[in-house]
Order: sequence, then structure tokens, then C-alpha cells
Amino acid sequence: MHNETDGNTRICGLIGHPLGHTLSPKIHNMLAEMTGINLVYVPFDVQPERIADALPGAQALNILGMNVTIPYKNAVIPFLESIDPLAEKIGAVNTLVRDEKGNGFRGYNTDMTGLYRSLEQEGIGLAGEDVILLGAGGVARAVACLCVMKGAKHIYLLNRTMEKAKTVADEINAAEGKECIIPMRLEDYSGLPDVPEKYLCIQCTNVGMYPKEKAVVIDDPSFYQKIHTGVDLVYRPLKTEFLKLAEASGAKTFSGLKMLLYQAVEAFELWNRVQISKTQADQVYEAVHEELQAHTGLVLIGFMGSGKTTVSQILAEKLAYHCLDSDANIEQQQKMKISQIFADKGEAAFRTLETESLRNLAEQKERRMILSAGGGLALKEENRALMRQLGKVIYLKTSPQTVYERVKEDQTRPLLQGDDLMGRIERLEAEREIFYQMAADEVVVTDGRTPEEVADEILRVTHLL
Ligand code: NAP
Repeated sequence: MHNETDGNTRICGLIGHPLGHTLSPKIHNMLAEMTGINLVYVPFDVQPERIADALPGAQALNILGMNVTIPYKNAVIPFLESIDPLAEKIGAVNTLVRDEKGNGFRGYNTDMTGLYRSLEQEGIGLAGEDVILLGAGGVARAVACLCVMKGAKHIYLLNRTMEKAKTVADEINAAEGKECIIPMRLEDYSGLPDVPEKYLCIQCTNVGMYPKEKAVVIDDPSFYQKIHTGVDLVYRPLKTEFLKLAEASGAKTFSGLKMLLYQAVEAFELWNRVQISKTQADQVYEAVHEELQAHTGLVLIGFMGSGKTTVSQILAEKLAYHCLDSDANIEQQQKMKISQIFADKGEAAFRTLETESLRNLAEQKERRMILSAGGGLALKEENRALMRQLGKVIYLKTSPQTVYERVKEDQTRPLLQGDDLMGRIERLEAEREIFYQMAADEVVVTDGRTPEEVADEILRVTHLL
């Protein structure tokens, strides 16, 4: 969705390094389309040694406005013509607007105002709240300032590195002339005093971001009993491990996607002197939400006979995804049956082929794909990491009895030839269980379920439909 460009088209963009995949162009170009403003928004990956050239360069090219992301939110400040008092207080800018005098750029912090607007939208107030902030980086500092400004009752700033939490707290407290922020070591969370209405907790670290989605700053469920609402500023994935734990303890949960949207909306409004309505913002939210959801590949792992092939075909149909079987892929590439590869080249050679084939798939970055993974793939750490690059990994857990019933007539599986089939299934499954668990984002039990029911359960746990 882009405006037609012509001689009057204005340029806005994002500077950062490395930029990777960013949703900002989609958001701004949609806003331009909706408001009929003749503007295009593009990413600019700026090398660290060129940051001093970036702002004068943008000015020379008459660029209308810029967003700034990691690692330049502080680094651009010396090159600004002027700075908004709020951004100055926070010590970080993420939006550059042409200065009214017409020369350089004026720096703003719409991360903070965008977060506030998104919290308001979700009905989350800060006044009189007891707040826990996890992290003490650039964003945590902006959120801490916001909490002080909006009259939060107590603000506990918990960070892995205590000195950083203390520095942020000391600076804000000195500026306010009172002890607003209480710094704490992250591992001391059990020392947080009990408060009658529980805490609002805002997760401001980058822990749990794709592709390390299983990571979480605090994994102790008792911590989550202390909170009534969990907000994670991470939005990729939409449901982080932090949000899952908060939800499991009965807290309300919100991802960082609305913050991302509203920091962009506020920037767009500053550049173009327009007001974006809630209806327009909601429409953009739907589009980016859909993009985040739809761009999750799926990898089904599990023992032979767990239904990976059939279930992946059902899912491919429902999601309009491309479906691939890792064994079939190797057979096609090698022009040989798997049983033949085992017989001629041995198992070790086959395992190497499996890893090579996974690596090729990961390099293709196809996000609308379901891979039915060979039963032994999850055993190698390198394969587990590659599978996570491909998408969400789902372990189809199946009891040895069910596997036996499903595969007992099958002559094509090399590992199952010979006597005592049931005993071998039990032994192999027991050996592999730990690796499947390590590889998996989600575990879905297949015993007593039809392939359709298993596919529906996968869609439910991954929120893909
Ligand atoms: P930052 O300045 O680099 O700070 C990172 C923070 O994460 C620090 O407090 C750091 O603790 C902590 N941390 C990192 N790894 C950790 C680990 N393994 N265990 C415990 N703590 C760890 O980053 P930032 O600019 O504040 O950004 C933080 C997050 O906010 C990012 O994930 C970003 O995606 C998100 N964000 C979201 C939006 C949005 O619109 N939704 C906007 C901006 C940023 P130490 O001090 O101990 O290193």
C-alpha cells in the first residue's frame, strides 16, 4: 500500500543499525495513504561511523522527518538544532522534526508519549499506581519518567545490573527533588512489598524477543502473583513468555504493539501537523497485527507416527502456507529414498544432509511455511537453532502405544525394522523426549485426537487463526 510518488513526494525514514525487519514503513505508508498525504517512509541503515553525517545529509536532501532507533537514540542529540523539553528530560530522542527556523531537526521522544497514549487506549492508568519496571535501559528510563509525571505512587526499577538501575533512579530523583524511583537488583524481586491492589508491571528489557522467544527475565510464577497487569514492550512475538506467565497468574496482559503504533502515530502527526483518529489508528493496528501473526512459520517435530505429515497438510490448507516434509525434501535433492541413503551412506551422512537442508531453508527466510521435520532432527543443537529461525516449533507428543499402532505395518522406516518393535519405540522415544522438549515452543498431545483436532489445537496455541 503506497502513495503514487511524484515531484512533490516528501520522504521520511528510520535511522538505526542494524535495522533488520521493521514494521515502521508499513505503519507510516498506511497512514500516508489514509490521510492522502504525499509521503513515503523508508529505512536508512546508518553505519556507526557515519552517524555524524546522517542528520546534515538528511537536511541537505530536504527529508521531512526521521525516526531514530537503537543504537542512536542518544547519539543523535549533539547533532540536533533543538530538543523538546520532555525528550531532554528523558535523554533520548526517537523522532526528528524539521526545526521551525527551517535549518536542522528538533528531537522528540514519542516512545514515551506513544506508550502513554497506548496505555490510555487499553484503560491502564498510572496515577496512584504501584509500578514495577523491569530493565533500566533507554526505554525503561523513558517509562520511569512517564510514571513519575503521571503520578504513580511507588515505582520499583528492577535491573540485572544494579548500578544502571541506581544511576537512572538517582538522576530522575535528583531532577524531581524527591525519592520517586526505588532501584532494585532483578533477583531481589521477592523483597518487593505486598501492596493491596497488586502492581502494574511493565517489561522494558529486550529479553524474550524473537528469535529467543523462550527467554524471560523472571521465570518464578510467584512473582506474577504480585501483579494485576503485565505490559511487555516487546511485540515480536506478540505473546512473550513474560505475558504467558502473567496471564497464567490471572493478570491482564498487553503486548508492545500498540506502543509501537502510537509512537509512530505521534511522529506522523508532528511531521505533518495532522491528527490521526482512533479509527484510523485501529485500522493500521489490525494490519500490523495480522502481519506479525501471518509471518510465523511452523515446524512440526515429534516421533515417527505422531502425525506430522498429515497435520502439516491440514494446517497448510487452512493457513494457505507452503507445506514441506524434510525427508521428502532430502529425497528430492538426493534423488534417492531415505532407506537407500541409510543403506548406502549410513546414518551419519543422512544427519549431515538433514542439517544442510535445514540451513538452506533458513536462508530462504520463507515465513509462510510449515515444515514437517524428520523424527531425529531435533537431536542436534544446531538443528534446533535452525528450526527456531524457521518459525514456531511444535512438538506433537505421542505415546509409544499410539506410535506402535500407527506404524506397525509400515515397512519404509529404517529405524523400525527388526524384532521387538514396541520395545524399540519405547527406548527411542525415551531417548528423544528431552530433545523434543528443548526444541519446542509448544507441546501438543496427539493421543486420542484426530489430525484435524491436532491441527485446531496448534492454531489455538499459536494464535495463528
Ligand atoms: P537497552 O537500552 O539496550 O536496555 C536493555 C535492557 O535489557 C537493560 O536493562 C538490560 O539490563 C536488560 N537486559 C538485556 N539482556 C538481559 C538479560 N539477559 N537478563 C536481564 N536483563 C537483560 O534497550 P532499550 O532501548 O531500553 O529497549 C528495550 C526493549 O524495548 C527492546 O526490546 C525494544 O524492542 C523495546 N521497545 C519497544 C518499543 C515499542 O514501541 N513497543 C519501543 C522501543 C523499544 P542490563 O542493564 O543489566 O544490561
